[in-house]
Amino acid sequence: MTTLYDTMTGSVTQLINPGQEAFSLYVCGPTVQDRPHLGHGRIMATYDLLRRHLRNKGLAVNLVMNVTDVDDKIISRAQAEATTYQAIAHHYEAIWWETMDRLGIERPDATPHATEWVQGMIEFIQELLDVGAAYVIDDGVYLRIASVPHYGLLTKQDFDQLQPGNRVEVNPLKESPLDFAIWKRTDSTEPGFDAPWGFGRPGWHTECVTMSIALLGRSFDLHGGGMDLIFPHHENELAQAQVLGVPFARHWAHVGFVEMNGEKMSKSIGNTLDLTDAITQFGGRAVRLAYLRAYYRSPLELSPAVLNDTLASLDRIDNFLDRGESGDVNTDTLATFIESLDNDLDTPTAFSILFEQVREGNIDFDRQHLKEGGDKIATVHAMLSWIGLAPSDDALVIPGEISDAVKAREQAKRDRDYTKADQLRMLIEASGFVVSDTKDGTQLRRDRRNSPRASMNSDD
Ligand SMILES: [Zn+2]
Repeated sequence: MTTLYDTMTGSVTQLINPGQEAFSLYVCGPTVQDRPHLGHGRIMATYDLLRRHLRNKGLAVNLVMNVTDVDDKIISRAQAEATTYQAIAHHYEAIWWETMDRLGIERPDATPHATEWVQGMIEFIQELLDVGAAYVIDDGVYLRIASVPHYGLLTKQDFDQLQPGNRVEVNPLKESPLDFAIWKRTDSTEPGFDAPWGFGRPGWHTECVTMSIALLGRSFDLHGGGMDLIFPHHENELAQAQVLGVPFARHWAHVGFVEMNGEKMSKSIGNTLDLTDAITQFGGRAVRLAYLRAYYRSPLELSPAVLNDTLASLDRIDNFLDRGESGDVNTDTLATFIESLDNDLDTPTAFSILFEQVREGNIDFDRQHLKEGGDKIATVHAMLSWIGLAPSDDALVIPGEISDAVKAREQAKRDRDYTKADQLRMLIEASGFVVSDTKDGTQLRRDRRNSPRASMNSDD
C-alpha cells in the first residue's frame, strides 16, 4: 500500500487503488524568468523521487509539467534587458533543464508551454462564460467565485475569511475581491494574443487547469507543487474545474519550503540561493541527497554548512561502496526501505535503514567478513538505484571551458609540450575534476574529496 499526505483531505491517504496500473501526475513547473533556486530543486527532486518509486513498483507513470513562458515577470525582464520575452523564456528554460539534468531529475513525459496552449485556454474561458461562472469587465475576464460550489477546499478556510492574494490588484468593477482574472486585457503594444474579449493574456490559474485536463483527462491521480501554490494557484485551478463539473485531481500534494536561517527561501524575500551554483560546488548528488533525506513536507534548512555535511555523508556511502565486490541484495532489508517510502515518502526512515547498512557493512569489512560486507554493498546500491542516487546516476556535466581545456591538453601532449599540459591539468583539477589518462583518451570524473566547496555565499 502506497500512501501520501493529501492536502485536500488533510490526512495521509491511499494513493494507489488495488489493481491500478497507471499513474497520472501534474506538477506545476517553472515560470522561466530567472535561474532556478534551491526551493525549485526540492520540489522537482521530490516528484522525481515519487515518480521513480511508483515506476519501480510497476506503475506506468505519466508526468506532465507546464512551462510558463509568457507572464508579467518575463515581460518586464525582457523590457529591462531590451530583448523579447521569447528570448528571456528560452534562455532561462535552457538553464532550467540543464540544472535539473545535473540534479538527476528525469525529464517529464510532456512539457506543455503556455504560449502553445493559448487557443485551448481561450476555449476553456469561453466554457466558463457559457455556464455563467465568469464575467467580462473593462480589463479582462474574471471567474465569479460566488458560482463555485465549494471555494476554499484546499486552503481549508471559509469563503468569507479568504483574502485575495497579495499580488492581486483590486479592480472596483470586480463583483468580489476574491474573483480572479482568467484573461487579462493588455495594450496591443505588449506581448499578447487575440481573444473574443480583446487582446491580452490568459491568467496563470487558467493555464494549468486547461493543460492538465487536456493532457491527463478530466480526472487524474495527483496534482502537485510547492506549498506556496496551495493558495491562490491551486485553489483557483480547482475553482474553475468545479464550476464546469470536472472531477479534476484525485489527490493533491505539496512540498515544504527550503529555508535559510529559518526563513522561507523565496524570490520575493530575496534570500534565494542559486541552485546551479550549489550543484557546481557540491555536486548534483549531494544536493539531491540533501533534499531527499529530509521529510518532504517539513521545512528544509539548507546552508553551505548543511550541504558540506551532506557531502560528507555521500562520501561515507561512496567510500563504503568502494570497499569490496558487490554481493547479493538482502531483499528483506530492501523491502523495509521501500516500505518506508510507501509510507508518505518517509525518506528519513529510509535513509536511517540505508546508513545502518553502511555502518554494519563497514564493520563487516573491518573484520574481513567480505561476503557479508559485499551483500550490504549490493543492498545499499539497490536502495540508491531505487531513488536515483546511485553513483552512476551522477550526471557528469562538464562545462564548456573544461572540455576545451581537456582538448588543449591532449594537443599539448601530442606536441610534447608537457609544461603546458601540466598547467592545463592544474586548471581542470582546480575546477573540481580528476583527470586520468587511459588508452581511450582523457577521462574526467568529479573530485568528491577535494571539490571547491568553501566559498558559497550566505548571510552568515
Ligand atoms: Zn500550476
